[in-house]
Amino acid sequence: PVRVQGISKSFGFLKVLDAVDLYLPAGSVTAILGPSGSGKSTLLRSINHLERVDSGFIAVDGHLVGYRQSGETLYELKEKDILKRRADIGMVFQNFNLFPHLTVLENLIEAPMQVRGTDRGAAVELARELLARVGLTDKIDAYPRQLSGGQQQRVAIARALALRPKVLLFDEPTSALDPELVGEVLDVIKELARTGTTLVIVTHEIGFAREVADTVVFMEGGHILEVGPPARIFSRPEHPRTREFLAKVL
Ligand code: ATP
Ligand code: MG
Repeated sequence: PVRVQGISKSFGFLKVLDAVDLYLPAGSVTAILGPSGSGKSTLLRSINHLERVDSGFIAVDGHLVGYRQSGETLYELKEKDILKRRADIGMVFQNFNLFPHLTVLENLIEAPMQVRGTDRGAAVELARELLARVGLTDKIDAYPRQLSGGQQQRVAIARALALRPKVLLFDEPTSALDPELVGEVLDVIKELARTGTTLVIVTHEIGFAREVADTVVFMEGGHILEVGPPARIFSRPEHPRTREFLAKVL
């Protein structure tokens, strides 16, 4: 499970996250919705310590992310230890972020070898297994530029899985894709949800959230305004702002 406890984050005078609490049980699938600028990406980036929060903390399976505790005080970990802990928290971005100069295989084995110390043979075996899972076995030697957006995003998902993360964060994974490529990426995420991977997905795909998420979180202005099962949030939103937002996107 992932515990986000009272995290706040400001950029200059702008408070982007204001004492956000969130609990993600193991195997849960959480969709985060909210207007542009509400802090969704900052929340995801804070969970894996790409963003340093001003207060509060994040713990994965009881281990603090980015910090160690001594008495009442939290000390930030060294870069090397941050990377190790971050490996428990996979992230998939809107723009795929594959290494352009590496083949699909090399993209997949890089992190397991560097971060987890996996030997090359085992890393290659895992890469083949993951490529089969995302339906891209035949692209193992291709370079990212030779792939469609949907294929690149499926490789990015396989790459995130190669570290065997305890939780996988998706930041609008389909919003850079042509409409006809959205489905193939959502299908891969659906399959992950079925196999019990803990997932957090920032998305504007309401239909997808309704079908796959067990919990929907609505954010605005750095606050979580409403949390609940999709069946309730989408049919009987309690907060007026959630109602307004859904009226626009549904
Ligand atoms: P979108 O739906 O457009 O992706 P979002 O909910 O993901 O929006 P964030 O990217 O978390 O929103 O941004 C929240 C606010 O913080 C915005 O006002 C944004 O301009 C600001 N912000 C984000 N990152 C930075 C930064 N590095 N420096 C300054 N301001 C930032
Ligand atoms: Mg964002």
